[in-house]
Amino acid sequence: MGLLKPVRQLAQPAMDTRTPEQRRRIMQAVKQKNTAPELAVRKLLYSHGYRYRLHRRDLPGRPDIALGLKRKAIFVHGCFWHGHDCPKGQLPKSKLNYWGPKIEANKERDRRKQRELEKLGWGVMTIWQCELANAQALWVRIQEFVEG
Ligand SMILES: [Zn+2]
Repeated sequence: MGLLKPVRQLAQPAMDTRTPEQRRRIMQAVKQKNTAPELAVRKLLYSHGYRYRLHRRDLPGRPDIALGLKRKAIFVHGCFWHGHDCPKGQLPKSKLNYWGPKIEANKERDRRKQRELEKLGWGVMTIWQCELANAQALWVRIQEFVEG
């Protein structure tokens, strides 16, 4: 019978404003499909008469939204997880060693999937979570992409 080791108390660095629980939720949200930003973009497209398919397994990176006839793929990315250059995408300085490589790997993967899609003749657009704050401007950008 082994003795149970006491659970080691991890010190919470002062620089990280988010709790581990919040971080865990951020990670989960990013890996999930049908996130709130994704649903908002889908609603926007649908309300303007566009029809699309979701998470097509036959396409590189399984784009969140694929407009097959126009060969346009849209990814809706969480700013933190995909390393957007905006306030929401800032890494906590105290945990750079932890998050830096993960986010970098995601960014590299995103670039690779985009190149693969483009090689297949698809146009690719990335929509950032923070862009949803201005739906009107976002819609202009989406339309230019889809019809361009
Ligand atoms: Zn952002």
